[in-house]
Order: sequence, then structure tokens, then C-alpha cells
Amino acid sequence: MRTFDYARAETTGQAVSSADNSAFLAGGTNLLDLVKIDIMRPDTVVDINRLPLKTIERMPDGRLKIGALVSNTTLAHDPIVRSDYAVLSEALLSGASTQLRNKATTAGNLMQRVRCPYFRDGVSACNKRDPGSGCSAIGGFNRSVHAVLGTSDKCIASHPSDMCVAMAAIGAGIVVSGPEGERTIDFLDFHLLPGDSPEQEHALKPNELITHVILDAPIRGNRSHYLKLRDRASYQFALASSGVIVATSGGVVQDARIALGGVGTKPWRASRAEQSLRGKAPTQANFEEAARIAFEDAKAYKHNAFKIPLGQQAIVRSLTTVIA
Ligand SMILES: Cc1cc2nc3c(=O)[nH]c(=O)nc-3n(C[C@H](O)[C@H](O)[C@H](O)COP(=O)(O)OP(=O)(O)OC[C@H]3O[C@@H](n4cnc5c(N)ncnc54)[C@H](O)[C@@H]3O)c2cc1C
Repeated sequence: MRTFDYARAETTGQAVSSADNSAFLAGGTNLLDLVKIDIMRPDTVVDINRLPLKTIERMPDGRLKIGALVSNTTLAHDPIVRSDYAVLSEALLSGASTQLRNKATTAGNLMQRVRCPYFRDGVSACNKRDPGSGCSAIGGFNRSVHAVLGTSDKCIASHPSDMCVAMAAIGAGIVVSGPEGERTIDFLDFHLLPGDSPEQEHALKPNELITHVILDAPIRGNRSHYLKLRDRASYQFALASSGVIVATSGGVVQDARIALGGVGTKPWRASRAEQSLRGKAPTQANFEEAARIAFEDAKAYKHNAFKIPLGQQAIVRSLTTVIA
């Protein structure tokens, strides 16, 4: 059995001055899983649950400031989130199970690790777990939790989060505090593509703590929706998902946001597809064209080619739902 030290941070300052190779403990639903199966091996687990990071507040400029320790359940049911960011509420409620959502936190969800079985089995070649060892998924069974967008010849694991797809569509800043002070990372720059170094998954520096996520102000008059397609109706990660936000005026699309889950190696913002819709009528043909553009750069592997038409259908259906 591998042992680790347990420490409890009473202040942000204490948390960010933790020893090397420590891990923050929030809800523990991902960290403790991975410690138990020996994939994450922190020397110290730093419990951050006493930090005052559990509030949701509307800022004077209309943005929404969410504490890192706000649970997925609290966030999904928050009245402002339900009314102004429906896509986020729906995405959160499509994830995991009620019990898990009660424990899972906003920052923990952002930081959750991939579900690739070759990463999690602890023995297969996996560049993410053991850099330079190879990627068993590329020549192996790569159907459900493997991506078609943003992959590299080092890693094809899809990003597992539903919440992050909605946040990618909304736009957000991630506020972090570290030994060198506070900074804000744009949401779209937070998760990294695997490239040649899939072990680097995010833009946090050592010992940096996420303190808040600040959502952009809602688009005036928007309607939004999160559609998750999966092998079974609950307790399952997305094969493909689509989070869309649309505002129309005078019979044309004024603004459109499209983000995808289950198909990308990071929460995937389909910017070119969004651009193709602006100023156009919200028709089935235009939605299909946006969906085609979203997957222009997709690369399928042996078992997951079906994700391209599935992801395209998710886009068309979610857009159709918000326009109906
Ligand atoms: C059976 C099962 C099914 C699931 N299904 C889904 C699903 O359908 N959709 C989905 O999106 N998710 C799903 N999940 C994942 C779940 O959402 C995550 O486990 C959860 O969001 C992680 O949050 P946590 O607070 O428990 O994080 P923890 O386990 O406490 O931490 C996770 C990681 O985040 C780091 N961390 C935590 N807080 C901070 C912070 N403030 N700053 C910096 N780093 C931090 C930790 O050190 C750790 O590395 C599922 C999980 C399980 C076990």
C-alpha cells in the first residue's frame, strides 16, 4: 500500500504553499478513485473544503462568479444559472449521478482526468500516465471515450466533462491563486491539447489553486440547450454532446455559440461553425452546414468513426431545439 500525508488548509495561502507533489482534495470523487487505483500518487493530499469558496454571486457587470467549491448540484439549481445559463444547468444535471453531483465541485469537475481505460488500467502503454510509453488506444479499442477532434499521435482520450462543454460555450475566466499571486486564465486556454505532451493537461502551474470561475455575462435574449448522447440514459459519459447558445433577431441569428463534448480531447468550441451561422436564417440547412464545418478537421479511429455523424446530429438537434 502506498501512503500519503493528509493536511487541511484553513486559508488559500496555506493551500498554495503545500509541499511538492501534493494534490488538492475537493469532493474527492475523481482524486480518491485515482489514488485507490494507483494512477495518482500524491505525497500529500491537501483538503481544501474549509476554504470560503462556496458562493455564487452576480457581479456588477453582469458576470457570474462561482466559487471553486460550489457543488455541481448547487450550481445546477442556482436560480441565476437556471434562468440565464440553462445550458450549464442542463449539462451539470446530465453528468454522473445525484450523489456524485452533491460531492463534486466546480474546480474538481474542471480538473477531472480522462476516462480512457488504457490510462486507468495502470499497465497499458499510455503517454499521459507514463510519458514516452506509447498510446494503447490508437491501435486498441477506441470507441466510446476517444476523440475525433484535437487528437495527436500521442493521445486520443476525449475530455470527459459535461460542465466544461457548457462553460466553453458561455465563455469564462478561471481565477487561480498561486505562490506568485493571482491570475485569470481564459477558459478556452485552460485545457491543453495533447500534442507531444499529453501528460500536461491544463494551464495551472505547480501549487496553483482554482478559486473561482467567472462566467461571461449572458447574451441578451439567448436560448440555450445541452444535448448529451450516450450508451445509456444515466451515469454514463457522453459519446457526443452539444452545448449551444443562440440569440436571434429579425429572423436571423445574431449570435451563436457551439461547444462539443465526448468528441474532443478538450472541451471543444466550434468557432468556425458558429461564424457560419451569424447573420443567417436559423434553418435546418444552415444548421447542417454548421455541423459539417464543426467536424471538418475530424480524424476518426478504427472504432469511433460513428462519432462524426453523431456529433453533427447533436449540433443540428440542439440548435433545432433552441429555435423551436
Ligand atoms: C461513476 C462516475 C460517473 C461520472 N460521470 C460523469 C459524467 O457523466 N459527466 C461528468 O462531467 N463527470 C462525470 N464524473 C466525474 C465527476 O464529475 C468528477 O469526478 C467531479 O466533478 C470531480 O470533482 P471533485 O470535487 O470530486 O474533485 P476531486 O476528486 O476532489 O479533485 C479532482 C482533481 O481536481 C483537483 N482540484 C480540486 N479542486 C481544485 C482546486 N480548487 N484547484 C486546483 N485543483 C483542484 C484535485 O487535486 C484533483 O486532481 C463521473 C464520476 C464518476 C466517479
